[in-house]
Amino acid sequence: MRYCRKCVMPDTRPHMKFDEDGICYPCRAAEKIKQTDWDKRWEELEELADRYRGCNGDYYDCIIAASGGKDSYYQTYIMKEKLDMNPLMVSVDNFTWTETGRHNWNNLLAEFGVDAHIMTLNPQVCKALFRKALEELGSPTWYFDRTIYAYPYQIAVKLNIPLLIYGEDTNFLYGGPHTEESPSAMKQITNDVAKPVPWDFWLDDKISMKHVNPAAFPTMEQMKKAKLNPTFLSYYLPWNGYKNMEFARSRGFKTLDDTGEWKRDGFLEQYDQIDTVGYLTHTWFKFPKYGHQRVTEVASLWIRENRMTREEAVEKVINEDYKLDKRMLNDFLEFTGYNERDFWKVVDKFANKSIVEKLDGIWRLKKNVETALINGQDVKK
Ligand SMILES: [Zn+2]
Repeated sequence: MRYCRKCVMPDTRPHMKFDEDGICYPCRAAEKIKQTDWDKRWEELEELADRYRGCNGDYYDCIIAASGGKDSYYQTYIMKEKLDMNPLMVSVDNFTWTETGRHNWNNLLAEFGVDAHIMTLNPQVCKALFRKALEELGSPTWYFDRTIYAYPYQIAVKLNIPLLIYGEDTNFLYGGPHTEESPSAMKQITNDVAKPVPWDFWLDDKISMKHVNPAAFPTMEQMKKAKLNPTFLSYYLPWNGYKNMEFARSRGFKTLDDTGEWKRDGFLEQYDQIDTVGYLTHTWFKFPKYGHQRVTEVASLWIRENRMTREEAVEKVINEDYKLDKRMLNDFLEFTGYNERDFWKVVDKFANKSIVEKLDGIWRLKKNVETALINGQDVKK
């Protein structure tokens, strides 16, 4: 295991690549992006919008895959107000909402004046699949994540709305299995968040394909026939989560700090993925498995944006990244029907003991891992 010399990302993140200078792929991508001719890319985006505007008569010109978060505000602003498109928002309902998230979603629709289509998943199926995914994969929300990816593709094909708009290309910007820069979001089908676990793994005498169809991608043939064009806006516009949050706030979006609803442990910021409660237990689960979670990811991003020094980031990662927020965990336990003791037993099973160790009963980075993090180098035995 080793750490990037520039940011605080370890190479235990799945598909993370480092170059010969010990710099991670996303840090290099961030440097490369600075050379982009954004005026030219904006023209390309205008041409794209011209091709699709009115393609369905009075029906929708495009779908925006949306959560109601800060990035959804920015996407809607670009597509509807800057490019004069008639978008349909497609979203997957949370199993638990924060008050702040409800406000942000309702305000998004009212502020920009858009229609929305929301898929609310069957809670019985969710619960069964969450439990199985937790115990056997250590990825509790697989079914939910897979639906977030698959459902907009499915609806775009069924409603014959070929242009499907996504925000950022997470593989290119943050690391993943497909790191080439491209406007096409087709590669999300094999994205690691919703890794293609065979359906047979999930099905049993109670769960059949008809119960999980929201999470099924259309076939390649169906997508070709519909001329589906899933597209990342981050290819056409410089993408910056912090600036998107500032923009969204100017249009009525509220952070958890703004509402005072919740100060989440294990987070650097209170403005990203703030619509949901127990869901983020899945994000925390990366900590015992890979030795990093949200604080490492956001701190790395902020280092690349000169918003934080590496030294400050290291301190935050060591003191904050291991924490699993109590409200988050309780909501997850309530939804899945676990008691806390059984949950921690599963965590213990998945904890990578060469990366983390228990201190006073809590999983923390091992001392030699912390040393490597501080120095930006390989972990020494
Ligand atoms: Zn890096």
